[in-house]
Amino acid sequence: MEGAKHVELVASGVYRLRVPLPNNPLRELNSYLLVGGAGRPLLVDLGFDMSECRNALEQGLSQLDLGFEDIDVFITHGHPDHCGCIARILRPEMRVFAGFPSSVTLQERLCQEFRGFLRWTSGRSTALQYRQPLEPMSEMERMAYIAKLRAVRMTEIVTPSFEAPVTVLSDGDTLSAGGRDLRVVAVQGHSPDHLCLYDADRGLLIAGDQVLPSITPNLAEFSIGENVLSRYLASFDALADLDVSLVLPGHREPYANLPARLKELHEHHERRAFEVQQAVEQGNNAVVSIARSVTWKNPIPDWDDWPMKQQFFAIGETLAHLSYLESQGRIGVNVENDRVTFHA
Ligand SMILES: [Zn+2]
Repeated sequence: MEGAKHVELVASGVYRLRVPLPNNPLRELNSYLLVGGAGRPLLVDLGFDMSECRNALEQGLSQLDLGFEDIDVFITHGHPDHCGCIARILRPEMRVFAGFPSSVTLQERLCQEFRGFLRWTSGRSTALQYRQPLEPMSEMERMAYIAKLRAVRMTEIVTPSFEAPVTVLSDGDTLSAGGRDLRVVAVQGHSPDHLCLYDADRGLLIAGDQVLPSITPNLAEFSIGENVLSRYLASFDALADLDVSLVLPGHREPYANLPARLKELHEHHERRAFEVQQAVEQGNNAVVSIARSVTWKNPIPDWDDWPMKQQFFAIGETLAHLSYLESQGRIGVNVENDRVTFHA
């Protein structure tokens, strides 16, 4: 049965389509198809702009006698593994729902992030840490820019801009689709416009990447003061209030115990923050040296041997925790001549 592995009923009226993510450690995206009632089926999240992803969606839908012209689409957030192929699967009758307008392309978003990153990591100390002591800053900037773009582009995954008439949803809205009423729950931290969908009648939470089982979603901050970690943890309050019997995450397996997972994630980030605080107390005061001195689950033992994109995400995650500590008054920040340092 060709393609049978792609489709699986995970809850009443909810199919999971497994979308491969080639060359990506996440391995697969869960795309969920909600069916039932009189309305059009709703497909939640899509995969990269790669033929492997589009084929998996197409095969999965065809197993249910559906095509792209029969469905509407909901995008949990603007990361390329969730919306990369939207422009190619778009059909004239398709409605697209998301938390951000189509005019915001991923490239624009990355450039915004990147400017913040440079502001907070630039300076001679950072250049030195990157073993570029004699390079002028423009070279450092160019390198950082390329690394950042590479990190997110990977192969062909950058979202093309698309002119779909996106219906922008926000917290508290109700989306009637796939034979049910879904409450929109806006969450913060992993991505600025991340939306979850809550099916109160069936106790289902379509969670995107906000609360993944067994892995922690990337929480990178590239401009201190965004406070992505504080906002991420604060969004747990809204999720904890929901009566959820099954969480449908963007990656890995659906799971039952949402409160336990929220608690684990909270504890994980507290432990991480404590470790970062200790690194500062031991005298590390630049973000790169702090990132280098905390522990990472990386099979490559020496930081200097890491691919630059991994260093970037590690720095982003470290900044998220530094910002969190600073907002709690647990560490201090100094800005002098565009150089940012942290102290106990
Ligand atoms: Zn994802």
